[in-house]
Amino acid sequence: MLSNSRDDKYRYFLFSRWCGCRLRKFLFILFLVALSGCAFIGSYNPATGRREFIAISTPTEVRMGRDIHQRLLREYEFVIRGGLLNRVRSIGARLAAVSDRKDYKYNFYVIKKDEMNAFTTPGGNIYIFTGLLNKLKDDNQIAAVIAHEMGHCAARHVVKKFQAILGYDLLGSFILSNIGLSPYARSIARLSSSAVMRLVSSAYSRHDEYEADRLGVKYMRLAGFNPQGMVEVLKILKKTSREPGGLIILRSHPYLKDRIIAVQHEILCSKE
Ligand SMILES: [Zn+2]
Repeated sequence: MLSNSRDDKYRYFLFSRWCGCRLRKFLFILFLVALSGCAFIGSYNPATGRREFIAISTPTEVRMGRDIHQRLLREYEFVIRGGLLNRVRSIGARLAAVSDRKDYKYNFYVIKKDEMNAFTTPGGNIYIFTGLLNKLKDDNQIAAVIAHEMGHCAARHVVKKFQAILGYDLLGSFILSNIGLSPYARSIARLSSSAVMRLVSSAYSRHDEYEADRLGVKYMRLAGFNPQGMVEVLKILKKTSREPGGLIILRSHPYLKDRIIAVQHEILCSKE
């Protein structure tokens, strides 16, 4: 029928315009990525053994991390000196030395808050709350928390998560700023504090959690820590998940029961 045929043509017109728009946007981002010399596209990641397609370069990732850090400084009270901070930093340095990813410098921060939480932002910034540290009994357990977060860094889970959530528009402005076509767009600064926190504490996939645990066990062993500390931390998290405030870390690090079994298996299998 004529009317249907007209509708079909109109729908086809709208569809092709939508496709064209998406295609142009994709090609534009691709052009910017190519222009920024992003040789990392489709590069091999030794931590995961996979080829990965990451559109955010390491310098851009570091700048994103720096921006987010400024927001977090306004949001939280940080521990700026003392034994606890030195302990976290020295454990972190030992783990960083054996990490698969060494193209940026890891930074370790302690946030003064009675909350069971730890998270990582782009650029290798790892944050642990005093509420979680107070529940940990020894260096092996502190190392387990840091090594797991470092696993997320090495496997590029953090940057992939941000890439997926930020989307093309925000990503484009980061890439533009990276290649100097425009003044540095402080895209993170445009987000509200709660949006930034939602971003940093958003969940990883189940696969990513298992992978971060596996890499964490590897780094703990290589740095001379007892990987059994990872099992102990997961058990502490499982126990405290029923307590008030204990659920915070589980928003981004769930599936504890299964992960305990997987880590125990990994420790047995990776034993020399
Ligand atoms: Zn995790």
